[in-house]
Amino acid sequence: MTIITSSLQAVKKRIATAAKDACRQPDEIKLLAASKTNPAEQVRAAWDAGQTIFGENYLQEALEKIFALSDLPIEWHFIGPIQSNKTKRIAENFSWVHSVDRKKIADRLSRDRPETLPPLQICLQVNVSGEDTKSGVSPKLTSDLATYVAGLPHLRLRGLMAVPELTTATALQRSQFHMLREIYDQLRQDGFDLDTLSMGMSEDMDIAIAEGATIVRVGTAIFGPRRYPIPEELAAARTNR
Ligand SMILES: *Cc1c(COP(=O)(O)O)cnc(C)c1O
Repeated sequence: MTIITSSLQAVKKRIATAAKDACRQPDEIKLLAASKTNPAEQVRAAWDAGQTIFGENYLQEALEKIFALSDLPIEWHFIGPIQSNKTKRIAENFSWVHSVDRKKIADRLSRDRPETLPPLQICLQVNVSGEDTKSGVSPKLTSDLATYVAGLPHLRLRGLMAVPELTTATALQRSQFHMLREIYDQLRQDGFDLDTLSMGMSEDMDIAIAEGATIVRVGTAIFGPRRYPIPEELAAARTNR
C-alpha cells in the first residue's frame, strides 16, 4: 500500500469518527484533496487510491497539473485568492470556485464561463476571523454578495467557505466555524438554495465537521508537508531574471 493510500484511509477514518461524534452521516462530508505544491504524480497516486476531488490555489501550477492529468475525470476546485486577470482561465478549467469574495470577480467568472460547460459552482469566501489581511467578504456583506451571485447566469451559488485564523485555541477555532454556520443557516432561511459549507483543514477538520462542514479541504494530512517555495513564486523568479 502506498503512503498516500494509507494517509487517505486515515483521513477518511477521522472524517467518519468526527461525523459519528456529531450524529451525522459520514457521506454528508466530501473530502477535497488540497494539492497545492504537490506534483501531478502525487495527484495521480491519490486518484489511484480513490480520491476524485482536488483543490488548487495557484492558477499556473494548477493548469500544468490539469493538463498533465487530462486523461482523468478529476473534479477541480479553485480555492485560492483570485486576481481579476485570471478569471478566464479559472472559469474555463475548474468545476468549482470556493474563494469568490467580491462582485467584480463574480461578474467576470460568469462572463468568462464557456456556454458549453455547466454553470460554475460557487462558494463565497467569508472572512470570519476579522483579520484585515485575510481574503473574504465580511459577514455583514455576505447576504448582499449572495443575492448578486445568485442572479448571475453562468454561476450556481452553492454555499460558503472560510479559512479561520490559525490558532491552537480550539474554542476560538470553533467559534469561527460556528459563525460561518450561522451565516449559512440565515441565508437558507432567507430562501437561498445552499447545500455547501466548505470548512476544515488537516488540523481542524474534526471541529469543522462538528460545526456542520459538508466539504473539508485537506492537504498536509494526505500529501505530507508541502514543498516550498510555491511553484508560482518560482515561475515569477524565472520570468524576472
Ligand atoms: C492549503 C489549503 C488547505 C489545506 O491545508 P492543510 O492544512 O494542508 O490541510 C485548505 N484550504 C485552503 C484554502 C488552502 O489554501
